[in-house]
Amino acid sequence: MSLQKITVFLLLTPLLFAVLVQNGYSEITKDSQCKEGYVLVLRINVSRYACVFDDTASEWETLGIAEATEEMEEAPVVEVPEVVETPDEETEEPSDITITNFDECVAAGNPVMESYPRQCIDSDGQTFVEEVMMQDELGVFPETMNYTAQAPTIDQEKGYFVDEIADGIYWLIGGGYQTMFVTTGEGVIAVDAPQPIGENYLAAIAEVTSEPVTHMIYSHSHLDHTGAAGQIFSNVTFISHIETADVLLAENDTNRPVPSVTFDDYMYPVSVGNQTLELYHIGNFHSDGDIMIYAPIQKVAMLVDLLRPGESPYKAFGVTPDIDLYLQTHDTLLDNFDFDVLISGHTNLLATKDDVMLNKQFTVDVMENARQALEAGEANPEVMCASLSIEQWNQTLANLDAFMIDHCLAMVQYLSSVDSTNATDAMEPEDPFSVKVPLDEELTDISSVSVPVPDDEIREQVKGQLDLLTFKIEQMVELAENNDIISVVIDSNKRFAAMDDANAYIAEKDEEWLKTPRNSNSPFMSAIIESSVSDLLREKLVIPTQEFGDVSFPEIIVTNSFGANVGQSQRTEDYNQGDEGWWIRAKTVSIHITEVAWDSSAEIFSADIIIKMVDEDGNFIGVLKAVTPIRDV
Ligand SMILES: [Zn+2]
Repeated sequence: MSLQKITVFLLLTPLLFAVLVQNGYSEITKDSQCKEGYVLVLRINVSRYACVFDDTASEWETLGIAEATEEMEEAPVVEVPEVVETPDEETEEPSDITITNFDECVAAGNPVMESYPRQCIDSDGQTFVEEVMMQDELGVFPETMNYTAQAPTIDQEKGYFVDEIADGIYWLIGGGYQTMFVTTGEGVIAVDAPQPIGENYLAAIAEVTSEPVTHMIYSHSHLDHTGAAGQIFSNVTFISHIETADVLLAENDTNRPVPSVTFDDYMYPVSVGNQTLELYHIGNFHSDGDIMIYAPIQKVAMLVDLLRPGESPYKAFGVTPDIDLYLQTHDTLLDNFDFDVLISGHTNLLATKDDVMLNKQFTVDVMENARQALEAGEANPEVMCASLSIEQWNQTLANLDAFMIDHCLAMVQYLSSVDSTNATDAMEPEDPFSVKVPLDEELTDISSVSVPVPDDEIREQVKGQLDLLTFKIEQMVELAENNDIISVVIDSNKRFAAMDDANAYIAEKDEEWLKTPRNSNSPFMSAIIESSVSDLLREKLVIPTQEFGDVSFPEIIVTNSFGANVGQSQRTEDYNQGDEGWWIRAKTVSIHITEVAWDSSAEIFSADIIIKMVDEDGNFIGVLKAVTPIRDV
């Protein structure tokens, strides 16, 4: 029995439920009936029907981005008369020539006003505005596309980065999270309120506009993306999908106010001032009430926790409850929405349709590898699946090791459940004995899953593993509180703080580190590896115990508050840890355990115990990381 197997149980429960939940959504077609006050329109740039407010419909028609499906008279659409059934033949536009745009108006010899944009008035007195300017305004700013390839530098002092990426749409990143807000002329619409960005959200808004925040949209209910809302937004209209509101109501958390505006439809438009955002419920691929936030004119989309541009998705495909729907969501995005960039919730890059395609291909490949491993009759198919997938994808996606085993376990489980869909009645009744394993705060993503444990033997083994893990954490907490280590770390922080540009120094040393051949260390590297802190860390690499035998840590390192190594039991891959996800999280989370992953230097499956180091007053001073092997008992 190994921790990996325990993870199987962890993943089993949500996946079993996933089989039972069907996540369909209703399509709006040309025959759909909209609710009162809404008009059915054909969205020209996405060739899709939508029910929108009648005001929005006329506005969109003026902008040339949609047309009402009913015959338009001169007057704007207000009340829709009875739809006349036209059984077989499609009614097309009448055969006599009607002027519908600027070009046709000019071609018919009507006068042109030399304004900008130019306007043409036809014989009926109707005015047609040249669409040149409109076209220029569509989409994101050209420079925005740079952010799809190169992450912007985050000012460490400020702790965030903000930039206008399209008309009135601001992209905000910080602490490994990203979101957006929109200025409307009548107040700011904020989307999400990620915990790691926190108060900086308000600072970023104040940096670019004096408009107050009047609305906040929840992309979904999860605490990490929305948990700052209660602290930073007041007198704000909160908006979400009805299912998200249900979750928030049940969780009763003052950090996440329950929305007063909810919607149950496929699409809901939010119009404030001169901006319209469309909210789409395209399926619960990640959690109950996931929505896409879409700015059709600016061609910006936001969909959280589906993918991470440039990186592997978060564990078990963004902890999706339904791999089928997860895959399908990629197609929904690619086929139905026209966007230049997608805000994905994580990393410091903007995503494009290419990233969506890549993530889909990755998922398909992992599925294929899991299938191969199952067919080969592997005892641990996830291991074979992981090594095949890493080999295929490590040139393409970063951070692959971190979640590969999780992805493969989820996929193996998915394929097995698909195979046995006819045998679902064979589900075991739930064992009253269950262990809660709140290892990682990010487990909020799947709440703390109850793990049914099948028999006494396994129960004992699980308990043994958890006792061992607890012991290891205690040992590392003790090490992180060692006064000798703390004083060296504080000294290091002072030296770095006194530098003109500590980040440039770290980047330079990191480069030196990476360039130095594996079998030799530069004097700078040796100084750290041979330091007194490193000696103290090495003393803890193996701890003899009565209960567990020799407890070992293949590697222990300590960084200062800038992310630079201060001590390390042996040579590490690089000098700068400040750009690593585990390091960034340690700034806010006291203790966390990373996911089980393949450690390429130690050639073992391991998880890392990460401890936030603090001074006497509880201020963040550095991070301790201990690699711990995951092996069969
Ligand atoms: Zn989430």
